[in-house]
Amino acid sequence: MSKMTAPKSTTNLLKQLRSSMQNQNFVSEPIAAYIIPSADAHNGEYLADCDKYRAFISGFNGSAGTAIVTDKQACMWTDGRYWLQAREEMDDNWTLMKEGDPNTLKTDQWLIKTLPNGSKVGVDPTLFTHEKFSPLQQELETIGHKLIPVKQNLVELLWSDRPQRPLNPVKPLPVTFTGKTIKDKMLEVIAAMNEKKAKYFVVTALDQIAWVLNLRGSDIEYNPVFFSYLIIKSDATFTLFIDPRQASEEVKEHLKSEAGCVFTIEPYTRIEEALKEISTSLDQFVWFSEFSSYALTSIIPKKHLLLTSTTPIELMKAVKNPTEAQGMRNAHIKDAVALCCYFSWLEKNVASGNVTEVSGAAKLHELRKLQADFMGDSFETISSVGPHGAIIHYQPSKATDVPIRTDCLYLCDSGAQYRDGTTDVTRTWHFGTPTEYEKECYTRVLKGQLQLASRIFPTKLKGNHLDSFAREFLWDVGLDYGHGTGHGIGHYLNVHEGPMGISWRVLHQDPGLEANMFLSNEPGYYEDGKFGMRIEDIVQVVPANTPHNFNNRGFLTFDTITLVPKSINLINVKMLTDGEIEQLNKYHQLCRDVVGPLLEKAGEVEAKEWLWRQSTPISR
Ligand code: ZN
Ligand code: ZN
Repeated sequence: MSKMTAPKSTTNLLKQLRSSMQNQNFVSEPIAAYIIPSADAHNGEYLADCDKYRAFISGFNGSAGTAIVTDKQACMWTDGRYWLQAREEMDDNWTLMKEGDPNTLKTDQWLIKTLPNGSKVGVDPTLFTHEKFSPLQQELETIGHKLIPVKQNLVELLWSDRPQRPLNPVKPLPVTFTGKTIKDKMLEVIAAMNEKKAKYFVVTALDQIAWVLNLRGSDIEYNPVFFSYLIIKSDATFTLFIDPRQASEEVKEHLKSEAGCVFTIEPYTRIEEALKEISTSLDQFVWFSEFSSYALTSIIPKKHLLLTSTTPIELMKAVKNPTEAQGMRNAHIKDAVALCCYFSWLEKNVASGNVTEVSGAAKLHELRKLQADFMGDSFETISSVGPHGAIIHYQPSKATDVPIRTDCLYLCDSGAQYRDGTTDVTRTWHFGTPTEYEKECYTRVLKGQLQLASRIFPTKLKGNHLDSFAREFLWDVGLDYGHGTGHGIGHYLNVHEGPMGISWRVLHQDPGLEANMFLSNEPGYYEDGKFGMRIEDIVQVVPANTPHNFNNRGFLTFDTITLVPKSINLINVKMLTDGEIEQLNKYHQLCRDVVGPLLEKAGEVEAKEWLWRQSTPISR
């Protein structure tokens, strides 16, 4: 099922865009192709409405896609999640390029094959990371094309009712939540800068700026960040580039009292000028992440440009300090209270046929709101029935909404932002009688999750090496799932956070696992058109108690901090070992011990009864 909307008429827009591509008021030389990515100037995962250029020019609203417009063609690359939606939302001017289909050329290959020799390809350099721009530039140059940074965004020119960039209030996050003052964080960053002989460190990722300055905002849905840039100088001063309307007295006071150093505030829009000024008198490096925009990195002369795939802030942020770690654990306990209330309510009401994917998700939101320091959801709730569960990024909408039923699986993946931590949890339920096959699949997913959760491994091991533990029991019978097993998660920040992860893909920037990193443990199994199941917990990396300690490396394991029972009616107990049964029963006892008293205190009698039923010890 999908949305039935009339496609956006783009004939006029494309005509105007093509004319701008030739107009030397906007481009230094006429361009044969213009690339419009789904990206903002900060390489963020979610975009503010004002940055949705690709959606505006094409009508296609999916979260991932790249458009290329030439004088005759308009093509949209997007992956399998969005093929149907893209077809419906785009008019006949557009050609859908099925990303992931082996017969589809990648964007760079397509440019090389399609354009006449010596063509110019244009792109807004604020929307292309250095890491993307440079290789494409080299590739195009090998056959005589040229990649041209076009300063004026050509889609912006046509977008008369483009929304304003959000200017939502920015709020200090007290040290009782952050555990570390700005000053202490800055000192660590500056030590890393001195090591690299960097005089300036330009921070462009919004979550990194929010973290190091102990500030939070709400400019981007689900991500508690605010539009800004930060330049840290090796003499322990810094400049924050932010809209003056967001730099309130409260923000300034907070920076003054926590940073204990000289700082200046300049307008958000002045970043390029400021870098140009810096670039005129350089004797040392200017440090950027290679995921910073080419518009900024290209201002600094190459010999003074230092690029790394991860930044010191990213590494510091990934290893939670004791206060952050405690907050993360607490956030997951509160979240468990809300989820137990939701799932028990669902179990009771689902038979009426009146609860739908959308109304269920809304109920869950209301229950989370009751928890202390709730600030919003951490991503759009995936509340999916039957075949919808197989669409990994399914988002229920009015057009696709269906009642939650008792004769098929229900998958709920959701999370919250609390001031003390970010959550992300998935449970899969069957409110009737599951088939033996569904039980077998669920049990295999569960076995993998239990196995990963209890692994012991040496410090600094890359998460990649752990991925197979979660898949083993699916692989045994020729099954698998098409996504990674674990991602990092922020502390009242982005729900997906690097640089580490647990995936079959090798993540080049993975620094290896350390104590107090937090990741998801989320194996699943999906059958297109039929059902989807996933079980997701957040785990904390903790020291393991081993009898030996090879080469003094220190050994680690995981502590699961999500405390919501798993579906015992979906388990085929015969497939579990004694050890797995013990591990699961222990987990369920912990859910009772920690969440039970809170449900009781809140007067949630039914939820508590539900928790007890769901956590009944299992045995063969
Ligand atoms: Zn999730
Ligand atoms: Zn997740």
